[in-house]
Amino acid sequence: MPAVKTLQQIAAELQGYDPQAMSAAQVQDFLSRLVSPVQDAVELPLFEAFGRVLAADVISPFDVPPHDNSAMDGYAFDGGQLSADNPLDLVVLAGTALAGKAWQGSNSLVKPGQCVKIMTGAIMPQGLDTVVPQEFVTVIEDGRICIPAGLLNPGDNRRLRGEDLMQDRPALQKGELLTPARLGLAASLGLKTLTCWRPLRVAYFSTGDEILSLGEAPREGAVYDSNRYTVFGLLSSLGCQIIDMGVVADDPALLEAAFTEAAMRADAVITSGGVSVGEADYTKAMMKKLGDVAFWRIAMRPGRPMAVGRISQEKSGSSPITASARSYQTHSNPNGAILFGLPGNPVAVMVTFLAFVRPALLQMMGASAAPAPLLKARSTEAIRKKPGRTEYQRGWVSNGPDGGLQVKTTGSQGSGVLRSMAEANGLMVLHHSQGNVAVGDEVDVLMFEGAS
Ligand code: AMP
Ligand code: MG
Repeated sequence: MPAVKTLQQIAAELQGYDPQAMSAAQVQDFLSRLVSPVQDAVELPLFEAFGRVLAADVISPFDVPPHDNSAMDGYAFDGGQLSADNPLDLVVLAGTALAGKAWQGSNSLVKPGQCVKIMTGAIMPQGLDTVVPQEFVTVIEDGRICIPAGLLNPGDNRRLRGEDLMQDRPALQKGELLTPARLGLAASLGLKTLTCWRPLRVAYFSTGDEILSLGEAPREGAVYDSNRYTVFGLLSSLGCQIIDMGVVADDPALLEAAFTEAAMRADAVITSGGVSVGEADYTKAMMKKLGDVAFWRIAMRPGRPMAVGRISQEKSGSSPITASARSYQTHSNPNGAILFGLPGNPVAVMVTFLAFVRPALLQMMGASAAPAPLLKARSTEAIRKKPGRTEYQRGWVSNGPDGGLQVKTTGSQGSGVLRSMAEANGLMVLHHSQGNVAVGDEVDVLMFEGAS
């Protein structure tokens, strides 16, 4: 296992690192240097492998397709007889080449001037390389067909053996996420199991004295914990194993126990709340005490404060290790768990997750996936935007009258307003140096569907 870098070492690698003024791009860069992939591979049956990341290339045990075969219903013949200027008359032999079977029509080779009726997917009879689709021929009454001149080239409408996948070559690559198509592809090779990285274990808890768990009676000034549910959804769509640790009050002993247990059980720990400047709580102090943690102010909206680092599972304080933490010691991660201390505001949590945590977790999952693509859409409204910070606006992307994509914001953009997030299908990403947006300007959008 490579030696882990301290935050200070990573900071020294970066130009102009200033924890008080991080750009979104610097945050992504920093995190990509902080995290590394888990290294435990497991062999899984196909249904269980869905959504996992491949830990090894999948080598094709045979050619796909295994034989040259027809791409159309029609007549197979030797394309060497085609001429650009003259139609070609061919005698149709008895019998039809059907999918999944060798042609049974004749013991001898098909001769020049002859052809064989063939169905899509049927193996090409020996010596034949071209198929004319049946709708292109004229059937002559004496059992011949006529192919018009200039219609075909030799080799047309034939699929070559190994055209999709070649034997002994990688059909899927290490680091690929097992999507429905990739799972199907693995099945088409007859493989019953796949070697995947084990799922990432991610512990989550909400912090704050004012945060109520569901089922608790409402009280003045308190709010129900929504972050636990949005983070649960975001982590579930990534295929992580979620360790839900509930709400932890602003109490040093409880926070210490929660962080220690989370670091022991999980590869990554996500918390929300308690990281803003001037917070009168113990969350920041505890993060500092238990780990190598940086507190950032990010030039972005929403989601300015964030804590990042590594939390040690070693008990450093005086509070006793909990029984449940001790029972998870076998899962321990010797380098400690990566900490993502997200701000408390519900939309800030989701935005910082999508912008920073998600790519870092994918890297930890061993995924080689490129960042989710940004689409271009025309803004249907003017938006004020200050250069010098990245703004994420909740938006609804749809097809505009010209067929291109258009986007409109979904109401109040306050960082605690979950409603406009719930009404959105993506985020407009107004980049760091970008200024005001005029009606009709193209903006980048990150679609939620593609991102999770
Ligand atoms: P903080 O970052 O702790 O200052 O929290 C900022 C705001 O987010 C406060 O209004 C909190 O009440 C709210 N908040 C923090 N955590 C949660 C949560 N888990 N669910 C809903 N709102 C929260
Ligand atoms: Mg708070």
